[in-house]
Amino acid sequence: MAFDIDMIKAVYAAFPDRVAAARSIVGRPLTFTEKILYSHLYDGLATEKYERAKSYVDFRVDRVAMQDATAQMALLQFVQAGKARVDLPSTVHCDHLIQAEDGADADMKRALEENKEVFGFLESVSKKYGIGFWKPGAGIIHQVVLENYAFPGGMMIGTDSHTVNAGGLGMVAIGVGGADAVDAMTGLAWELKFPKLIGVKLTGKLNGWTSAKDVILKVAGILTVKGGTGAIVEYFGPGAESLSCTGKGTICNMGAEIGATTSTFAYDASMDRYLRSTGRADVADLAQGISQHLTADAGVYDAPEKYFDQVIEINLSELEPHINGPFTPDLAWPISQFAAAVREKGYPAKLEVGLIGSCTNSSYEDLTRAASVARQAGEKNLKVKSEFTITPGSEQVRYTAERDGLLATFEEIGGVVLANACGPCIGQWKRHNQAGNPKNSIITSFNRNFAKRNDGNPNTHGFVASPEIVTAMTLAGDLTFNPLTDTLTNEDGKQVKLDEPQGIELPPRGFDVEDPGYQAPAQDGSSVVIKVAPDSDRLQLLSPFPAWEGTDLKGLKLLIKAKGKCTTDHISMAGPWLRFRGHLDNIANNTLTGAINAYNDKADAVKNPLTGEYQPVPVVARAMKASGLGSIVVGDENYGEGSSREHAAMQPRHLGVRAVLVRSFARIHETNLKKQGMLALTFANPADYDRIQEDDTLDILGLTSFAPGKPLTLQLTHADGSTEQFAVNHTYNAQQIEWFKAGSALNIIRAQQ
Ligand code: SF4
Repeated sequence: MAFDIDMIKAVYAAFPDRVAAARSIVGRPLTFTEKILYSHLYDGLATEKYERAKSYVDFRVDRVAMQDATAQMALLQFVQAGKARVDLPSTVHCDHLIQAEDGADADMKRALEENKEVFGFLESVSKKYGIGFWKPGAGIIHQVVLENYAFPGGMMIGTDSHTVNAGGLGMVAIGVGGADAVDAMTGLAWELKFPKLIGVKLTGKLNGWTSAKDVILKVAGILTVKGGTGAIVEYFGPGAESLSCTGKGTICNMGAEIGATTSTFAYDASMDRYLRSTGRADVADLAQGISQHLTADAGVYDAPEKYFDQVIEINLSELEPHINGPFTPDLAWPISQFAAAVREKGYPAKLEVGLIGSCTNSSYEDLTRAASVARQAGEKNLKVKSEFTITPGSEQVRYTAERDGLLATFEEIGGVVLANACGPCIGQWKRHNQAGNPKNSIITSFNRNFAKRNDGNPNTHGFVASPEIVTAMTLAGDLTFNPLTDTLTNEDGKQVKLDEPQGIELPPRGFDVEDPGYQAPAQDGSSVVIKVAPDSDRLQLLSPFPAWEGTDLKGLKLLIKAKGKCTTDHISMAGPWLRFRGHLDNIANNTLTGAINAYNDKADAVKNPLTGEYQPVPVVARAMKASGLGSIVVGDENYGEGSSREHAAMQPRHLGVRAVLVRSFARIHETNLKKQGMLALTFANPADYDRIQEDDTLDILGLTSFAPGKPLTLQLTHADGSTEQFAVNHTYNAQQIEWFKAGSALNIIRAQQ
């Protein structure tokens, strides 16, 4: 992968000078996180960029990773940009669309058939535009990235919230929406609000049943699901250095569950070992060459409170194994208190299924520790009480684990090895015997455990723990069991105690794999045809949005005045609609169906101005579009919060909405609207929201002199013929005004090719 090594060489060549310049401007020692951020500023070195401002900063990231569900719209947009190739190393990973039911082979066969056209599309686009393609079965995006692409000091974005996993190998890696990935792949800057910094000092050393997973389970309990919001978490201290690289990955992975922008660790010997073990001695040598820069400056970790906004200290020697849940990953129970909690809270004590693996916890070390527990079933004559599944994170891990007998150990206790894919972790789990949604408990080594996440059953109590604790619980079949203190009754009626798990950090015989599932892009992709069937209901090539007509927007009608909370889920619902993520016209049939109409307090019932009838929002939008009538959406506070997916901006645009006028925006959604050529406006006086009446005709005035910082005017013509005007604000800069005029940001990029 020469593309990568050249890129890493370039990053490392510039790193020391950029960091030195940043240090002199900031005027104090820097944390490792700051070094990565400052060395990746898009416009290079400028004093104002170094202020720890609350401002948004433009970055130039090193690479992009996309998973199959989110890659569809991202790549459809990239095609629109008209570029011959992506501007930076990028990969696509087919992992989210594979449903677990009967085991790896049968599940893969079914998934390949069911998702044939999506996989075919992703493969053809990747081949054409210089994107590395990881086939279905190759593994889960974050594990594959850790094994192949992550490197200390790098910065990447990925279209999945657990992109943060790569922090285990010293990256700043951040989960984003598809539109952000398109920006980076087309060579534009990627924007991020400069984060706060949380330092977690780890002292002591893990021992016994405690693992890296317990560090993040403990941190989640301290910070809660919101405590990391807007922050990057940097782990350091002697305890951090004692952790394996993949253990660090687990900690960073689940940082998504505390809302952190990302988490990272400074470069150390564990990363060197992991890079060499995964066939990247060249990267390890390069990192060694600048190792003194790939950590915080001297003094920072000795007085962290001077450099971090918040500091937490955890002594690994005293850390207990944790079990978190149910229904939220921050409900943290040290294992010594868990049995009492199960009894007191009335959680179902009988354990139905234990699930290990996923992108969070499927390293060789994880599997060896879990296998050392599983092996004791035979040795101690124990009958396994719960169902047990194993999800390897990649084909490389699976192949190596099979070669070394780990998978056989799991299978001997009835474990079912699932495909190297997300499966039950993302709800792609056709669970048996679940008719009627019974109340039950499962325990996983995954990261998220919100209601319905794994199996769609709101009564499934999902708990999260390390793979070795999950395995021990599976042997016991009882959540009140504590393997540290309790005994189990074996088949001879004897009381037996499980020995502490033993792990091996990296395979002594090295990693091995026959077919990793990687497909390199074509050297020259110009003749590669993008595969989209014209009659497909899942994929649709995009057409450019029309440019601005050059006049004020007059005669608009109200599509909906949304009341209260209106998240991107209300604007573009998830669930069954995920199937249509690559088909704009089809997914547009869910547009704003979750928003509450301020005039009747109902969802998905708005007045059709052409007929006076109340109809579903998409029906009314399509009727207006068909008759050439532009429409406007009015919203309340923090409109568009939630997931950053671009569908929530593209769908209204596709249905003929010209402007979204709200009391306030969630910033990412506001930017997404601008990128799609929409007018994103706010009431200068929030009370003006109440002036808008259901039958109004709306004119947006001042567009011919549209300029940064200059408000526009909204004129309302009410049904009785009376009119009124008021100011509406916007945050468009000069470049974003050009996006509006051209019809979208992509239209501009395409015009420049
Ligand atoms: S395994 Fe789970 S957390 Fe990881 S990428 Fe897949 S769905 Fe996301």
